[in-house]
Amino acid sequence: MMDGFTVAIDGPAAAGKGTVSRAVAAHFGFAHLDTGLLYRAVGAKVMEGMTPEEAAQTLVAQDLENALLRTNAVAEAASRAAAIPAVRAALVDFQRSFAMRAGGAVLDGRDIGTVICPDAQVKLFVTATPDVRARRRHAELVAKGHDVTLQEVLADVQARDARDSNRAEAPLKPAADAEEMDTSHMDIDAAVTRAIELVQARIQN
Ligand code: C5P
Repeated sequence: MMDGFTVAIDGPAAAGKGTVSRAVAAHFGFAHLDTGLLYRAVGAKVMEGMTPEEAAQTLVAQDLENALLRTNAVAEAASRAAAIPAVRAALVDFQRSFAMRAGGAVLDGRDIGTVICPDAQVKLFVTATPDVRARRRHAELVAKGHDVTLQEVLADVQARDARDSNRAEAPLKPAADAEEMDTSHMDIDAAVTRAIELVQARIQN
C-alpha cells in the first residue's frame, strides 16, 4: 500500500538528517538510503586513483562497505566529485529506483527533494547552525577515536557546505515545498517526533 511513497530529507553536513531518516524509516517500516554514502564511495575510489566519472559509473554495492567512508578526507573527495555533472548523472537511476521500491522509502542527501524525487510525498530540509553541526560532528569523531580539533571540523563543514551550495548542478537548497526544520536548539527526539508527525499527516491524506 505504501509502494512509491517517498520521504525526501535534505540538508547540510551533520544537521541530523541521518538520525532523523533512520528513525522515520524504522517507525514506518520504510527502506532507507543514505545517498551521501554513494558519493563517499565515489570519493574513496577517486582517492585510490580512479577518475570521478569512472568511479561513479562502476560503483557496486560492495563499495559502500568500505570502513573509511566516514572519514573527513573521503567526505572532502566526495564533495569534489559530487560537483561533476557526469558523476551525479551516473547515480540518478539507482536512487530513483530505490525511491520507488515496494513498501515506501526514505532517502537523505542534498538534492533528493529538488532533483531526484521532486514528487516525493514528504520533503524535509534539516538544518542547524555551522557551529552546532561542527560540535556534533566533532563529538562523534572523538567518540570513534579520531584525533581532530573542533576548529578543524568547523572548517571542513564550512568548506563542504560552501562547495555543495554553490555548485551549478543540483546545489544544496530546500525544495520550494520542503518543510524546514532547524535542529540547532532541538534535541534529536523532538526532531524525530516532528518528522514522524509530518509523514503520518501525509499518509492519512
Ligand atoms: O551526506 P554526506 O555528508 O555523507 O555526503 C557527502 C558529500 O556527498 C556531500 O558533501 C555532498 O557533496 C555529496 N552529496 C551530494 N548529493 C547527495 C548526497 C551527498 O552531492 N544527495
